[in-house]
This record gives sequence, structure tokens and C-alpha cells, in this order.
Amino acid sequence: MKNIVILTGAGISAESGLKTFRDSDGLWEGYNIEDVATPEAWEHNPVRVQQFYNERRKSVLEAKPNAAHYALAALEEKYTVTIITQNIDDLHERAGSTNVVHLHGIITRSQSSVKPELTYPIDGWEIKMGELCELGSQLRAHVVWFGEPVPMIEHAAAICVGADVFMLVGSSLAVYPAAGLIGYVDREVPKYIIDPNIPSVNVKGPVIKIQEKATVGVPALVNELLKD
Ligand code: NAD
Repeated sequence: MKNIVILTGAGISAESGLKTFRDSDGLWEGYNIEDVATPEAWEHNPVRVQQFYNERRKSVLEAKPNAAHYALAALEEKYTVTIITQNIDDLHERAGSTNVVHLHGIITRSQSSVKPELTYPIDGWEIKMGELCELGSQLRAHVVWFGEPVPMIEHAAAICVGADVFMLVGSSLAVYPAAGLIGYVDREVPKYIIDPNIPSVNVKGPVIKIQEKATVGVPALVNELLKD
């Protein structure tokens, strides 16, 4: 079976009601990124950071996968599919995709604030201040903040090297190192980009630009790929 690798960003979940942050005002749900998504923010005001991610978790739990998430899950009928997502929501999994790499973590789990490898399921939508990991440190959301290492990046790069078909859906490619992954895909491999605002990419070989919303562009492309 051919290997399809799909890199997704916040745009694929936009039509599920989860806001992207670069589309409108450079804020994420009204917050400056530096105030809620950095190690410095956690050090300075852990209560605000915890509350911000608790609110995001609540929205994620209320959201439902959309036609784009479901279409990507259907690709598994005919292909070996790996989704590399920058998203911290779990909508790919809930749509039925079985092989999802979360580059920036997943908001439905908590992690130790001193040892990121220690992660736990969360009961409900909230991590409370005072809830501790097994080492006795405060639990925080299992997400990668700006300025933190991205532990899955080498694994993701190796997956991109093995792609026979590559897709990019709903990402501005403004966040590194994720944005560099497309550079690992072989030059001969077709690279489909689905986004109402196609980001600029500096790669050689075939790039097919589909300037559509995810719920329109992804199911149409998946239909074509399932015919092959
Ligand atoms: P981004 O906000 O930088 O860019 C969003 C992209 O989605 C843009 O290119 C935009 O044109 C496109 N888009 C908007 N509506 C779309 C639609 N209906 N269909 C398809 N594309 C659409 O997002 P990014 O590149 O993923 O980087 C943002 C970072 O923020 C990520 O690292 C991610 O962890 C985090 N984030 C995650 C979520 C989530 O988990 N759902 C939401 C917001 C931000």
C-alpha cells in the first residue's frame, strides 16, 4: 500500500468551531501567545495559563470532527496513512484515524511540569491547581509551548521521508520546526496543499494548490485518491 502523509494545522478544525490564531488578529481566543503559551507565562502566572488551557479543553470536548477529519480517516481503506498534526485537539482520533502523531501534544492529557514524559489522562475538562504528578509537581496541559523542544520532530521527519503522497491541510506554516517538515518529502512526491490562503512553500517538484476550505477540498481530493 502507498504511504500517504498528511500534515494538518489549526485550519482543519476551524469548521468544527475551534479558532485558529493567525486568521484574524494574531491572538488566540483573545490572548497574546506570550501570556499563555510559553514557559515564562507558566512561571509568571500559572493560574492564568491553567485556566486558558482548561477553557480550550472544554471547547475541544464540545467540538465534533468535520467532513475533512472523516475523509482523512476513510483514506485508511486503501492507503497506509500517517497524520502528523500540529493540533492539540483529538478530532482526528474521534473521526477514526488510527495513526496520528501529535507534534504539539494533546490537550486531553495532563503532564508533569518538571518531567514532560510523565503524562496522564484527565478526568473531565479541568486540571486543578494542586493536582500533582507522581513526582509531586503541579500538573499542566500536555502541550508544547513556544520555546519548548518538540520531542516528536525527528520521528515526524522520518515519516515524511517515506511519503509517496503528501498533503498539507490548514496550516500557515508559520510555526517551526513543523513548517520545515515538507522539506523532508522527496522532490518527486506530489504535494497537495488545501487552504483558503495557500501558504508559500519553497520546495521543488509537483505542488498542487487547492484553494478551498478543508471540508470542501479534503473530501474531494480523498474521493479522487480512493479511485486510483
Ligand atoms: P495557524 O493559525 O497559524 O494557521 C491556520 C491556517 O488555517 C491558515 O493558513 C488559514 O488560512 C487556514 N484555514 C482557516 N480556515 C480554514 C478552513 N476552514 N479550512 C482549511 N484551512 C483553513 O495554524 P497552524 O499553522 O496550525 O499553527 C498554529 C499553532 O497553534 C499550532 O502549533 C497549533 O498547536 C496551535 N493551535 C491549535 C488549535 C487546535 O488544536 N485546533 C487551534 C489553534 C491553534
